[in-house]
Amino acid sequence: MSEKAGKERTKVFGRGAHECKLCGRKQGLVRRYSIYFCRQCFREWASKLGFKKLN
Ligand SMILES: [Zn+2]
Repeated sequence: MSEKAGKERTKVFGRGAHECKLCGRKQGLVRRYSIYFCRQCFREWASKLGFKKLN
């Protein structure tokens, strides 16, 4: 027996899947705490929250 239907995809691809939450850029994404920021936004965001310097 083969199951064709019935599987639901939990991952959503396309627009809004993996892009920066701030500027929408899809390059250089940093995933932290289940959010996506590009490197530039992440640095600003991290600095605002008082994060320590990464690297
Ligand atoms: Zn960004």
